[in-house]
Amino acid sequence: MTETLLKAEKLKNFINGNWIDVNESTAVINPANGKTVVDVPLSGSEDVNTAVKAAKTAQKEWALVPAPQRAEVLFRVGSIMKERKERLSQLLTMENGKVIEEARGEVQEGIDMAFYMAGEGRRMFGQTTPAELKDKFAMSQRCPVGVVGIITPWNFPIAIATWKSFPAIVSGNAVVWKPATETPIMAFELAKIFEEAGLPKGVVNVVFGKGSAVGDAMVNHDDIRVISFTGSNDTGRSIASKCGEQLKKVSLEMGGKNAVIVMDDADLNLAVEGILWSAFGTSGQRCTACSRVIVHEDVKERLEERLLVEMEKLTIGDGLDESIKVGPIINNAGLEKIKKYIQIGKDEGAKMLAGGYVMDEGDHAKGHYFAPTLFTDATAEMRISQEEIFGPVVSLVPVKSFEEAIEVNNGVEFGLSSSIFTGDVNRVFKAQRDLDTGIVYVNAGTTGAEIHLPFGGTKGTGNGHRDSGVQALDVFTEWKAVYVDFSGKLQRAQIDVE
Ligand code: NAP
Repeated sequence: MTETLLKAEKLKNFINGNWIDVNESTAVINPANGKTVVDVPLSGSEDVNTAVKAAKTAQKEWALVPAPQRAEVLFRVGSIMKERKERLSQLLTMENGKVIEEARGEVQEGIDMAFYMAGEGRRMFGQTTPAELKDKFAMSQRCPVGVVGIITPWNFPIAIATWKSFPAIVSGNAVVWKPATETPIMAFELAKIFEEAGLPKGVVNVVFGKGSAVGDAMVNHDDIRVISFTGSNDTGRSIASKCGEQLKKVSLEMGGKNAVIVMDDADLNLAVEGILWSAFGTSGQRCTACSRVIVHEDVKERLEERLLVEMEKLTIGDGLDESIKVGPIINNAGLEKIKKYIQIGKDEGAKMLAGGYVMDEGDHAKGHYFAPTLFTDATAEMRISQEEIFGPVVSLVPVKSFEEAIEVNNGVEFGLSSSIFTGDVNRVFKAQRDLDTGIVYVNAGTTGAEIHLPFGGTKGTGNGHRDSGVQALDVFTEWKAVYVDFSGKLQRAQIDVE
């Protein structure tokens, strides 16, 4: 099936509009069944240099193309993605493992981003503003930064790439993109789409390879002016310090420890649905996954009972099967990390109500599967309540009041997403004010961002930038203030004011 879908056994880099073979490669494994999907190149710093050189040349021309015309390419990209939605979704499930329904949702997010950012080609608003002197005009405008480096993770191989590359392109930059080695197929497919949509050569370049080789070479390249990174905190911190030394702009979107708050007045059935979707969707491997449920003690037992009933119904397996609700874990390292946290949770004294084991019997033995897991009676301080597990593991933390719930929610190093289930309008407004996360949901789970709103987090989740939304343009543009004096004489600001 893969062969017919992909028509390639080995991927190639896409540099300056050419498909370039690289000697070294590694296999991309379908986490659902352990089969090789395709081979991906392991490029090195020389390949990065070639890509940056091409990007630098192409960017000069691209920046002069009027933004509405740049946007036309994105409209075509969006249309081709729409035509290929099912094919892209199936390939995404094969490389990443997420269930097909979620893969379709992720591809749709990319399509939405294409049309939204294409619209920015006719907006990209600056300001006109009064000048303090007579016969003088003042305005601000966005300018491209030049060559931008994009480094993306495996858990959203196409959506995150579109959040970053589309605003970069429409603002007149050229891109060098390193996708995660685990999930390179979406990058290969998107590069083909850029080519077909008529994007000039060199405006987008894809270099496959390891973060330690390709990613590091990008971070340290003098001609890359911005790094936009999504991934783990350890990698993000190391990239940030390298960029800091070079005074290079860097946008970081990293981990989360997201919570659903369930108050005593919540619609419990709705809360259960929200928890299941956000804790076990993508097998908990979303940056916005719910991994804590902060529950009012008066409804804790009822919530536990209902969660256990619904968890029993979760079907676990290969996500290409439409009946499957929870897919595999990306790789063995992911499984090992989850296993480690299960032991930590037990040692800390949390009570495990369900799951907690690797599923390695029957068809599950071929892939990497972990049983959806529920801990209860966890405390806010436990490591399972503080650290990102990145798997289908959720811990219930009982609290006595709304105020305590907010405090527990905020008492972690991350600040990506939070949610509250309550019927009390006063609590709703207090919660959206006091929850210290970049995204807040009311009566919904912790996942489900829409592309026209800013996406990102506070505290240890990021460094103040946002992916998607119009705010994404801030990462890929510099502001320029322009003063036009039409008085015919030298007028000195702050001095010649009458
Ligand atoms: P990761 O290990 O940090 O990898 C992310 C990307 O960085 C990959 O392309 C990786 O390349 C590359 N990389 C690794 N080392 C590098 C280095 N020294 N220099 C430059 N690039 C380097 O993260 P992951 O495990 O793929 O992704 C999961 C993490 O991403 C989780 O923590 C999750 O919360 C976070 N995430 C955050 C968001 C958000 O928007 N906040 C969204 C999604 C995911 P290779 O893997 O190919 O070596």
